[in-house]
Order: sequence, then C-alpha cells, then structure tokens
Amino acid sequence: MNDNNPKIKRENQLIKIRKQHQDYYQPIEMIKTKYFSWKLNNLAAGCNQCILGRKLVVFVTGICPKDCFYCPLSEQKKNNDVIFANERPLRDEDDIDALIDEAALSKSWGAGFTGGDPLAESTGLANILRY
Ligand code: SF4
Repeated sequence: MNDNNPKIKRENQLIKIRKQHQDYYQPIEMIKTKYFSWKLNNLAAGCNQCILGRKLVVFVTGICPKDCFYCPLSEQKKNNDVIFANERPLRDEDDIDALIDEAALSKSWGAGFTGGDPLAESTGLANILRY
C-alpha cells in the first residue's frame, strides 16, 4: 500500500474519523423498566435515588410565569410563594433546620428542586443551595 497516495490517505483519515465517531456516539437503547416506564441507556444517579425513595424533593416556590392547562400544582401551591421539603412546609428559605430534619427523616441521599418555576424566585433557590 502506498501511504503517499492522496486518495488512500484520505480514505484512511475517513476510516479513522468514522471509528472515533462510533466510539463516541454509542447507540441509544430504549429499555423498559420494571417501574412502568422506559429509559435510554442507564438512569442518572438522581433517578436511581428517586426509585429508592432516597431523594428529597425541595419545592422552591409555587410562583410560575406560565399557565399550562395541565399544571398539576394544588391550589395551596399554585402561584403562592411557599416552600416545601417533600410535603413538609418550611417557614421560608432560611428554615434549614426543618429541611435538614426532613432529609434525615426520609433518609435522602440527594435532592431535586422543583416548583412552580424554581428560578422565578432565584434568591430563594440560591439561599437553599448555600447549605
Ligand atoms: S408549574 Fe409547570 S406545569 Fe404549572 S404552569 Fe408552571 S410550567 Fe406549567
């Protein structure tokens, strides 16, 4: 094989690029879980915590600029600036003792932040994230 032949050189480069592409882009596999859902490849660490019930759900605020017809928020939460750790109401974003207590009670390994729009009251989320 003549390595100086430009056509062969280009083909070798293309083969190398295709190989790198295949290594980088693993095929996506849809897998049915035993939890009545589907997933792509492996679940994220946070999803695994959820399955085990080991994730604290921090409801940062019920404030949301959208008005989706399918919004699942209760009247207690929708467009109200309220904070919950799981279903435990917190006085405000500085009520960290209650948040830590709820995390300990539910044996949480991680936390997810939701709302409303958690970024609508960005100072509230920022205060919680400090801890
Ligand atoms: S909380 Fe979510 S579902 Fe409800 S109105 Fe806002 S964006 Fe829509």
